Amino acid sequence: MNRKQRRAMAKEQRKKGNDDLAEKVMLFDKLPDECLMCEAPFDKKNKEMVSKWNVTVRESQGRVHLYCPDCWDKAHKMVAAVVESMEETAKVMEERKKNAKDNE
Ligand SMILES: [Zn+2]
Repeated sequence: MNRKQRRAMAKEQRKKGNDDLAEKVMLFDKLPDECLMCEAPFDKKNKEMVSKWNVTVRESQGRVHLYCPDCWDKAHKMVAAVVESMEETAKVMEERKKNAKDNE
């Protein structure tokens, strides 16, 4: 979405007088009732759950993904591990480049 479209949309929302409220309500409506990964049940009316569970929004797909705290934690650790191994690989590549240069 470009700036012009975004501005037009915001204007449209304001005209309707519901600002981001409508958006939030819509999102809430789309909230799944279970964790995307482990299918643990989610209760929208449980404030503690609402505050602890994690919601990600894919605006382009109009999708809302829900993760329980356990899976969120696991997902983050997984990402961290991938990043670490990527850094590790980058280091090795760098070393190889250096060695190649030394042999020139
Ligand atoms: Zn889960």
